[in-house]
Amino acid sequence: MSSFNDIDPATGETIAVISTTSESELREVVARAREVQPAWEATPFEERAELLRAGAARLGEKVDELAETITREMGKPVAEARREAAAWVGHTAEVLEEVAVALAPEVLPAKGSETVLERQPLGVVAAITPWNFPVGMPLSILIPALAAGNTVVFKPSELVPLTGALIAECFGSALPKGVLNLVQGGGDVGASLVKSDVDMIGFVGSRDTGERIMKAAGDGLKRLILELGGKDPLVVFEDADLESAAECAVRHSLRNTGQVCCSVERVYVAEKVAKEFEELVVAKASDWSHGSGFDAGSKMGPMVSAEQRSKVAAQVTDAVASGARLLLGGESESGEGFFYPATVLGDVDQSLTISHEETFGPVVSLTPFDGTEERAVELANDTPYGLGANVYTGDLEKGLRVARGIRSGQVGINQYLGSAKGTPWVGARQSGFGFLGGIEGHRQFTLPKSLSYPKAD
Ligand code: NAD
Repeated sequence: MSSFNDIDPATGETIAVISTTSESELREVVARAREVQPAWEATPFEERAELLRAGAARLGEKVDELAETITREMGKPVAEARREAAAWVGHTAEVLEEVAVALAPEVLPAKGSETVLERQPLGVVAAITPWNFPVGMPLSILIPALAAGNTVVFKPSELVPLTGALIAECFGSALPKGVLNLVQGGGDVGASLVKSDVDMIGFVGSRDTGERIMKAAGDGLKRLILELGGKDPLVVFEDADLESAAECAVRHSLRNTGQVCCSVERVYVAEKVAKEFEELVVAKASDWSHGSGFDAGSKMGPMVSAEQRSKVAAQVTDAVASGARLLLGGESESGEGFFYPATVLGDVDQSLTISHEETFGPVVSLTPFDGTEERAVELANDTPYGLGANVYTGDLEKGLRVARGIRSGQVGINQYLGSAKGTPWVGARQSGFGFLGGIEGHRQFTLPKSLSYPKAD
């Protein structure tokens, strides 16, 4: 039987050895999910919702254990891990209310007849998720998929298997057997799951894996939701409130050690205010201490893996070798753990790898530009990604014009991009295919089916 090691990124030590789900076990799990799906679909929505609320309550009782497990497996400060876990568990009831609206049948009248539009589940959904928000990302798929009457086979990231197991245990024990199923392993198990007898893949992860899944899902024309990576720009015009723009740039480049899909990855600042802005950014970023996520003084934990840290270090080294100025940090630490410090780069050229490929690390990358709206839009759109973007200016109309020109799913103007209740989370261009969240997102776990019959006018 094969297995893999669960590593603490703050020490490099193995904290658990996890059995990999074998091909034959995976086939059995998917078959079980298929067998019980019709009964789950036939369970009235309110009953399904009640069972899911009970699952969330069980997870809520374990929120401290969950937070500690997250920090041990992927490193983020334990207070942040707790906030993530509590927020997403608490969010379950709200999502279920939205799903009730999304699933409500619609009556479409016609002359002499009536058509009822019902939403049917797709069947068995594979949920394949990343490690950076190890509670939030799984729940963003599991809750709407299960509430809609699908059964689910869930594969958490191989970097957070114990967090995934806790989620599956708490929800799974509240649901009928076989409705929510866990498989463990890396990309090969994910690939086998995509190929298996599932009807849909709900995936959150990198653009490259998303592309591989999309190709593989072509066999059998499986439905897809892909929420992928980003390279979000932040544009600072000369009339902006530089203090709040700098706060946003630093916080959202460094939060979660920069390992956020909608991190600020590129900052374009008008030349006239570039020097002043740079000084503000360096002063603020200097406060972002790093260390073990269990140390209350750490604003950032380690990077998730040695591999991820090497990728970030290579982008920074390449940028500096190509003329960018290293204003803070930039040196990988020797010693145990995968630490990388808060880093600020100035005068980063748009042609560099760090301006185009997702960094996913704690780097504020500053690029001066001529301060025009046209150039801001051109630079913001100069990557294949389109997840989020941020624009700072003293002129809201200008901010809105630039925001409309940027081809991304969500833009924050004079604030970090934010989601009001019910907003879908959308990746434009190569940041996604389909989307999660909101009424429209929840409906993607269903197919509309029309039933038409004669009816007197
Ligand atoms: P990843 O793509 O390496 O892995 C994601 C999941 O896919 C893991 O469970 C992995 O085991 C699995 N996987 C790998 N290869 C596979 C294959 N061939 N077939 C099926 N499954 C496979 O991503 P990651 O490193 O875990 O997460 C970081 C990425 O996720 C970043 O790019 C980040 O931007 C993105 N992300 C996006 C969002 C969003 O909402 N758009 C949210 C969080 C993270």
